[in-house]
Amino acid sequence: MATPDLLIVGSGLFGLTIAERAATQHGAKVTIIDRRDHIGGNAYSERDPETGIEIHKYGAHLFHTSNERVWEYVNRFTTFTDYVHKVYTTHDGVVYPMPINLGTINQFFSAAYTPDEARAVIAEQAGELAGQDPENLNDKGISLIGRPLYEAFIKNYTGKQWQTDPKDLPASIISRLPVRYTYDNRYFNDTYEGLPTDGYTAWLEKMADHENIEVQLSTDYFDESQPLNKAAVRGRIPVVYTGPVDRYFDYAHGDLKWRTIDLETERLDSTGDFQGTSVMNYADAEVPFTRIIEPRHFHPERDYPGDRTIIQREFSRFAERDDEPYYPVNSTEDRETLLAYRAMADAEPRTIFGGRLGTYQYLDMHMAIGAALSVADNKLADLLAS
Ligand code: FAD
Ligand code: UDP
Repeated sequence: MATPDLLIVGSGLFGLTIAERAATQHGAKVTIIDRRDHIGGNAYSERDPETGIEIHKYGAHLFHTSNERVWEYVNRFTTFTDYVHKVYTTHDGVVYPMPINLGTINQFFSAAYTPDEARAVIAEQAGELAGQDPENLNDKGISLIGRPLYEAFIKNYTGKQWQTDPKDLPASIISRLPVRYTYDNRYFNDTYEGLPTDGYTAWLEKMADHENIEVQLSTDYFDESQPLNKAAVRGRIPVVYTGPVDRYFDYAHGDLKWRTIDLETERLDSTGDFQGTSVMNYADAEVPFTRIIEPRHFHPERDYPGDRTIIQREFSRFAERDDEPYYPVNSTEDRETLLAYRAMADAEPRTIFGGRLGTYQYLDMHMAIGAALSVADNKLADLLAS
């Protein structure tokens, strides 16, 4: 096997974007390795063999962005449907629209507030925290929507999802969720949104479809029995590493904490529509799962069977070392540990750390692609020349 000009560890959207840029712009010979038996990282999806319904294997993935460059870039590989994401949540046996908007507020208080009236009511309920910009999720949540709505829709859901006291979680987690004083219940605020028309995997495979790009699956960077392993490659070939940063350094400064999810998938023959929407959250502590996903609703334009459906109950928990690390917990302790790993990463010869796992950051797909395009602009030429 010829030595590549660039080795990419991980075939997620970060690694694929760098690979595509290196091959197309720099004419580099790129090898991508992934320890999984498929391409695409967490965005990967597959068709259920019985119903044909597209299942997002690692949890629901909705593409959205306001970044013009990213939107133009992704459209080179796939078109997008006009799917607009909307989420509902069940609290005390009643279904409400999410994120919190005037519809949620009026339904919750059995009221007919105007936007100004609702703002005044929420400000009063936010009490001493109204209008402030606190750093932890608990106080930020109360300052945004007041205590009653926070306790109904956020507190227990967040508790189930993070198993961490919301006072110890960063405010940024909740800042992702808009609060609207209109009846607009779109989940995302972005200019562009949609799902890849022919599915995620067709999109991801197209990105790697270049004569200079070779993909080797079921290949772990830390497995010394395969030739492109860390010990053999380090300092010799330029590398873009998108696996977990703490694993790379053998946990020298301890483990960074991650959350993972378990999806319990059920095929239903009794109905063709279980919940009438793609995502139903469950806000209350008594329900052990956080949400139910019904993937057929992601593609209303497709011809799926009308008498059967698939649902996925999503459970959240802390990840052990052998689990898939999904969401960085990012506690104060984690952030200190991360600084120590960053210093090690900066000193690592000819290796760029990228993506969600490599930088220990929450990155949506458009953010991972945008970050990779920036790395391609600013660092790739030097890395390849090194
Ligand atoms: P990943 O996709 O995680 O890819 C990393 C790859 O590296 C993996 O394939 C892994 O197998 C491989 N790897 C790791 N270690 C090694 C090793 N030692 N050797 C070889 N290979 C290795 N984004 C959105 O925009 N919208 C959403 O709705 C959304 N929902 C999400 C839901 C869940 C449950 C999760 C987990 C993520 C979600 N995301 C969503 C984020 C999206 O998955 C990421 O932005 C995207 O996957 C980032 O790509 P990445 O390349 O950084 O990482
Ligand atoms: N959240 C909540 N109730 C909900 C939906 C979201 O409390 O019904 C909180 C929760 O803390 C979550 C955060 O808002 O982690 C961000 O929501 P998002 O849907 O972005 O979460 P994801 O599942 O993508 O992390």
